[in-house]
Amino acid sequence: MKTGTKQIVIVGGGFAGVEAAIALRKNKYDVTLVSNRDYFFIYPISIWIPTGKIPFDKSTLSLPMLAKRHGFKLVVDELVNVKGNEQEIELNTQTLKYDYLVLAIGADKMKHKGIEHTFSICGQPKKSLAMKTRFDELIEKGEGKIAIGFGGNPKDKSGVRGGPAFEIMFNFISTLKQKNLYDKFDFTFFAPMPEPGKRMGKSGYKMLDVMLNKEGIAKRVGKKITGFDHNGIYIENDTFIESDLTMFIPASAGPAILQQSDLPLSDAGFVKTDDHSKVEGFDNIYAVGDVAAMNGPEWKAKQGHMAVVMGKNAAYNIDRAIKGGTKRKGYQKHINILCVMDTGNGAGFIYRKGPKDVFIPLPIVGHWMKKVWGWHYKLTRTLGI
Ligand SMILES: Cc1cc2nc3c(=O)[nH]c(=O)nc-3n(C[C@H](O)[C@H](O)[C@H](O)COP(=O)(O)OP(=O)(O)OC[C@H]3O[C@@H](n4cnc5c(N)ncnc54)[C@H](O)[C@@H]3O)c2cc1C
Repeated sequence: MKTGTKQIVIVGGGFAGVEAAIALRKNKYDVTLVSNRDYFFIYPISIWIPTGKIPFDKSTLSLPMLAKRHGFKLVVDELVNVKGNEQEIELNTQTLKYDYLVLAIGADKMKHKGIEHTFSICGQPKKSLAMKTRFDELIEKGEGKIAIGFGGNPKDKSGVRGGPAFEIMFNFISTLKQKNLYDKFDFTFFAPMPEPGKRMGKSGYKMLDVMLNKEGIAKRVGKKITGFDHNGIYIENDTFIESDLTMFIPASAGPAILQQSDLPLSDAGFVKTDDHSKVEGFDNIYAVGDVAAMNGPEWKAKQGHMAVVMGKNAAYNIDRAIKGGTKRKGYQKHINILCVMDTGNGAGFIYRKGPKDVFIPLPIVGHWMKKVWGWHYKLTRTLGI
């Protein structure tokens, strides 16, 4: 079988899509990658943009550069519909046919009233710069109230993202301490669940509580968030948290554009797949990364390293399907929670696999470990090693 005779289209230029594209190109497949932006935004290291520790472009990899290096075609366009039964996808400006489709478009966010009054590190990449501007204004003013929190999705807990909220909070605090301004700022942490962060395991949860208490951060947890305003957050029982800068991470939800597609979706709108990332009811469509409805233990979480595993597996499984043979790779045995949670001047290493979990404080060295990971990740994807 000549691998170049099959048209493989990947939609999404993040962890999952880029991994699949590089792996498929190693087997010389004809690969087209569609992305609505011309860069891969590396979210885990973007946490340093709001404090100015890295410029925006250091958190990106150019997709035209990756396309040239690895030999895939790049189409910068927006996916608007997937017609699985017709083997085509509709983009804003054209329709593409495929033999195999890998869907890697990440997730949308839960909707909240007044969300436009918040900043988020998990939304559109450029929003991280708007947050930097507001943080700089407060530093200039010499005082302020900062509220940081994250939300839930009752239909799918795997999309709740708390780690980056803590990273932003501790990076803000570290920056303010360096400027001798911390005592002029009030911090509040808010979340609707009674035990936010518990999913990463007992050790991490306990340690975070110690860290929040040590910094004197007010906690408003276990209360429903009812909306946001320019000067704060409404939570149930008519309580209002005043804030000059609200950083809020809504939980993930399935991409709205998939609602009109013929793909099978979970209640939360994510694409249903089997362990091999193959979409239920379709032999030639794979869904990888945050867009996929994860199967597995109750504490599972949508994370970058799982997106990488799924992207690689999809490439392997497509190759096997084309060349024949029954061997396939699955992602569920790789499910774990793994995070180096940066605090600006150090980090906490968090790991959970089943009932076992650890939190290891890594002063100073942890911060550098995360920085080195960022350089290493960019270099290895650029070189394809
Ligand atoms: C601030 C932050 C910190 C994080 N830290 C960690 C960490 O330390 N460790 C960890 O494991 N995970 C971390 N995560 C989670 C991790 O970043 C995600 O799980 C990962 O990005 C998912 O990869 P993905 O490829 O599925 O989706 P994404 O990275 O979201 O990529 C989706 C891609 O699809 C494109 N796209 C979207 N819609 C369309 C459309 N309609 N048409 C065309 N293209 C489209 C986007 O432009 C993008 O290229 C973090 C997340 C955030 C936000």
